[in-house]
Amino acid sequence: MNTIAAASGNRHKILEIEEIMKNFGYHVISRHEAGVPDDLEIKETGDTFEENSRIKAEAVMKITGMPAIADDSGLVTDALDGAPGVYSARFAGEPCDDEKNNDRLLRLLAGVPYEKRTARFVSVITLVRPGKAPLTARGECEGHILFERRGNGGFGYDPLFLPVESEYTFAEISQEEKNRISHRARALRSLAEQLRGEES
Ligand code: IMP
Repeated sequence: MNTIAAASGNRHKILEIEEIMKNFGYHVISRHEAGVPDDLEIKETGDTFEENSRIKAEAVMKITGMPAIADDSGLVTDALDGAPGVYSARFAGEPCDDEKNNDRLLRLLAGVPYEKRTARFVSVITLVRPGKAPLTARGECEGHILFERRGNGGFGYDPLFLPVESEYTFAEISQEEKNRISHRARALRSLAEQLRGEES
């Protein structure tokens, strides 16, 4: 079985990635397990999810010599011209703070009516392997930003995001349900299709 290093330290993201990649003979380990020093910060200097995801995957492959996979994700809102976008994690400044990010989003959208609060979560996944061209896959999940938080589950902007496929926010649904419709799951499924294409 091929081992693949995830650029993320987030156990949760790694499990989601592992679930798909194991079908292709890959075992996914965290960047820590792959030997990337915990204090090494990979700077996300790109302007797009694609660039940042590629920067993270390539940095981890360079350090470990192993195939590497990275996800860059965020929330894109139409009324704010795409913000917070690639700055989703640090929207309210550093250190990253989900509560402050959600407060800032609500403040900026104050007075915007429901029909104009359209938004989507975006995930771009890059897989890099030594000697092979990188594979990139994008997944999106459409929805609306609510006027107040609903639900205690999930992370990030989950309590404010109502996906079009559900009457519950991402913070109110089970992980299983989120994995069915989430941007990250969609990107992973698209990556899986590309890998299947390589096999045939
Ligand atoms: P990164 O991809 O680890 O840089 O994180 C991007 C940021 O986007 C996270 O810190 C969250 O604020 C937000 N985000 C990405 N995916 C999700 C999600 O599934 N739910 C809620 N927030 C998310």
